[in-house]
Amino acid sequence: MQMKKLIVIGGGPAGMMAAVRAARLGADVTLLEKNAELGRKLLLTGKGRCNLTNACGLEEFLGRFSGKGGPFLRDAFKAFFNEELIAFFQERGLSCKIERQQRVFPETDQAASVLTVLRKELDRLKVKVFLLSTVKEILVDDPAGGRGVVLTDGKRIDADKVILAAGGLSYKATGSTGDGLKIASQLGHAVIAPLAALVPLKTKPDFPKMISGLTLKNVRVLASDGKRKILSPVGELGFTDFGISGALILSLSGMVVKWLHEKKPVFVLIDLKPALSLPQLRARFIREASASPGKTIEQIFALFLPVELVKVFLTLVGVAGDIPVNQIKPIQRDKFIALLKAIRLDISGSLSIEAAMVTSGGVSLKEINPRTMESRRIKGLYFAGEMIDVDGDTGGFNLQAAFSTGYLAGQSAAG
Ligand SMILES: Cc1cc2nc3c(=O)[nH]c(=O)nc-3n(C[C@H](O)[C@H](O)[C@H](O)COP(=O)(O)OP(=O)(O)OC[C@H]3O[C@@H](n4cnc5c(N)ncnc54)[C@H](O)[C@@H]3O)c2cc1C
Repeated sequence: MQMKKLIVIGGGPAGMMAAVRAARLGADVTLLEKNAELGRKLLLTGKGRCNLTNACGLEEFLGRFSGKGGPFLRDAFKAFFNEELIAFFQERGLSCKIERQQRVFPETDQAASVLTVLRKELDRLKVKVFLLSTVKEILVDDPAGGRGVVLTDGKRIDADKVILAAGGLSYKATGSTGDGLKIASQLGHAVIAPLAALVPLKTKPDFPKMISGLTLKNVRVLASDGKRKILSPVGELGFTDFGISGALILSLSGMVVKWLHEKKPVFVLIDLKPALSLPQLRARFIREASASPGKTIEQIFALFLPVELVKVFLTLVGVAGDIPVNQIKPIQRDKFIALLKAIRLDISGSLSIEAAMVTSGGVSLKEINPRTMESRRIKGLYFAGEMIDVDGDTGGFNLQAAFSTGYLAGQSAAG
């Protein structure tokens, strides 16, 4: 039987895994990458340590993707999930470890060792890797299935099937410049507008700037567009020159950016004391103030707040810090306590998609068969990775989605 000729466009995690799986099943695979090396973005992941997946169970995993992304990924995860991914690297000599929040990293703490395993596997399976090869167009003129691609230098390469895994639009220097989305759109595929996700947010009031660098642990955030709300779990938030960042904010940001895109007025409320109710906080304030009536308001505020925030709170409450606490008016005390549970920040925007960790939007899920990753419009064309309209939370969810959709696309195309 003649070997199936397959082209994979994009040498990121999705494309490399697709090529490995297809070659393992006996296909003759060519991998085309526009950069001079494979996996440029992969090397940046997890601050260079590569948080390659998460060890949580399937249902929780699916819940960490926005919109319809979770249900869409179910089949891909059934084909190849976190345990299989960890075993894939383990069998090739790279052990993994599980850290807080079930984040999985290579034992080496080096994203480069993840890339080395994938590169060696591509070599072993004799995948033809062409670097500095930018695909300009996919040819689908033959409705029965004859396919090929054209590179920017005019060269044509024929194939029976094509897997498009060219990534999203963030961190352009890594090669993710949106080519894949353009090519899909030229072929008649619906592409949902790409927006930034997992991205820091800009705020209107400038007090975050005054406390830039401060990180708060064990806080909770509520984001709202006036109608809809998202409540974060308890976690970490950081203040920056332009606004807010940190794990909690990144997780909310995909939805917030969508609301901003719809021109909705978005705000967040930060709860600095999620474990305590308003009455509990009031009782504590009264207790502290009556135990030390001679202490200044500033000193009492400091019992509730990191020192950097005391000045901010004095301004927001509108009270002088150097007067004795027994002179604070009940209305000022109640305002202070209300602020502890809900400091409001109006959101003016986000950093650009360039600075986002992932791209939301992409090729519409309606036009991809989730059981195979094949286009519902064009036979013999498959999609994998970030260019599909799925985006997940931080914690290893996006790389697993790239590896799993790549694996399934490779398997289906070779099958
Ligand atoms: C700073 C940062 C840190 C991150 N950390 C994590 C993490 O720890 N855990 C996690 O789960 N996720 C993380 N992510 C997200 C993760 O990196 C992506 O979800 C993942 O890389 C997507 O894989 P992909 O193969 O679909 O796309 P990409 O990795 O973007 O790969 C696409 C490839 O296609 C190539 N290409 C593009 N156009 C063409 C063309 N026309 N012709 C040929 N080749 C082309 C590109 O050069 C690129 O190499 C991080 C992202 C960033 C930016």
